[in-house]
Amino acid sequence: MLSLPHPARFFEREEDGRLLCTLCPRECRLGEGQAGFCYVRQNQGGDMVSLAYGKSTGFAVDPIEKKPLFHFLPGTSVLSFGTVGCNLGCRFCQNWNISKARESGRGMASLTAGEVVALAESSGCPSIAFTYNDPVIWAEWAIDVAGEARRQGIRTVFVTAGYVEEKAREEIFACMDAANVDLKAFAEEFYTRVTLSHLAPVLETLEWLAREGRVWTEVTNLVIPGLNDDPGETRRLAEWIGKHMGPDVPLHFSAFHPTWKMTDRPPTPPATLTQARRIAREVGLRHVYTGNVHDREGQSTLCPGCGQVLVVRDWNAVRKNRLGPGGTCPGCGERIAGRF
Ligand code: SF4
Repeated sequence: MLSLPHPARFFEREEDGRLLCTLCPRECRLGEGQAGFCYVRQNQGGDMVSLAYGKSTGFAVDPIEKKPLFHFLPGTSVLSFGTVGCNLGCRFCQNWNISKARESGRGMASLTAGEVVALAESSGCPSIAFTYNDPVIWAEWAIDVAGEARRQGIRTVFVTAGYVEEKAREEIFACMDAANVDLKAFAEEFYTRVTLSHLAPVLETLEWLAREGRVWTEVTNLVIPGLNDDPGETRRLAEWIGKHMGPDVPLHFSAFHPTWKMTDRPPTPPATLTQARRIAREVGLRHVYTGNVHDREGQSTLCPGCGQVLVVRDWNAVRKNRLGPGGTCPGCGERIAGRF
């Protein structure tokens, strides 16, 4: 069934008749008929509408480790979907075919929140992930699906760059169970030039998530050769996480693959990820992983108490899980941070 554009929230009316979008720090001001940078929020007849509401570019049943979340229901499947558009402009976007799509959901079939939750149930997924493109821009749709999921006992995962305004952030995360936030670099210059956004709002989101403590949060840093792989920057990033979020927040260093507007760089060498992991562990982070490569050692969970290997992974697959009830180490009884 095709549907009409859905009324959007998170905006203010300006004196000149334009609409100020208050969903993300880009703060687009939209005249009649104009769409925002993300392409899915539009001023139609003086009202803000969401062109992404009720839409999906397709569903996939993924391992939860692919989000990546290593300390949230390990070894389970997650029903994953996204829409089109994005509020960032990353030149290296690994999902550019949907984040840069300009269809804004037109022509895509429309679903209800109940239908998405029913799909998760019939697929045997204990959780639903809002992912592939940044769900911040389709917040109303993610919030409604998350609300229905919670009523049905299904958990939800928000995979995001964390570029979101304070008020919207509170509403969005009030109904989420877990998040993976991309920290794309630890340099404002990188954010400005390569992602067309800013670092400070992302750090605010991360700090807020850790302080609130309700949403299980893991952080991903996509390591791009020659752009954000400097060991000094990696150290500063890891130190910031330890100081502002705590040493138990899992940090994933993921391999980049050349795509979209960044085909002039090679894929990330596995040794660079291993080095980043070593640096982050040196500064005191307890759970640091490599991603998008085969690396059992770099993807296994160790007990921070006694050092035993508790969960063995290879890429996104769990090969062995020795965690006891509630995520405890069977050797020393230490409780591993996470939702198990
Ligand atoms: S959510 Fe979209 S329309 Fe709103 S400020 Fe961000 S980019 Fe602009």
